[in-house]
Amino acid sequence: MPIYEYEPVNLNQTCNKCQYGFEYMQNINDKPLEKCPDCGHVVRKVISWCRAAVMETSETHSHINRKIASYEKEGMWSHAAELADTHAEKVKDNQLKMRAIDNYEKAGYSAGTLEKHAQTNNATAEK
Ligand SMILES: [Zn+2]
Repeated sequence: MPIYEYEPVNLNQTCNKCQYGFEYMQNINDKPLEKCPDCGHVVRKVISWCRAAVMETSETHSHINRKIASYEKEGMWSHAAELADTHAEKVKDNQLKMRAIDNYEKAGYSAGTLEKHAQTNNATAEK
């Protein structure tokens, strides 16, 4: 869930919570807050998409990294490769891409099948 930042519209009408701005976690589909939940004075949303996006990515990222590592540990190379590959595409991570290729090789894919495989992978990911 993304975290949104709010700041008071009128600096003379604030409480301890909203005085210097505050963070509020809500669904993307939720309406933005119009009032401070504590004092009811008018607040506005500070645009911080980047921050929310980075936080979400790094959380997923470490989760996926753990998963890849556990596949590698069990010798499930194609599983590890596929996961690393899909995720590398998503986050544009070259290091992860290399890891995927490495794992594909361990799984016994040749360069030819690899290319075909990557295409199928992309097609599924496009959905
Ligand atoms: Zn307030």
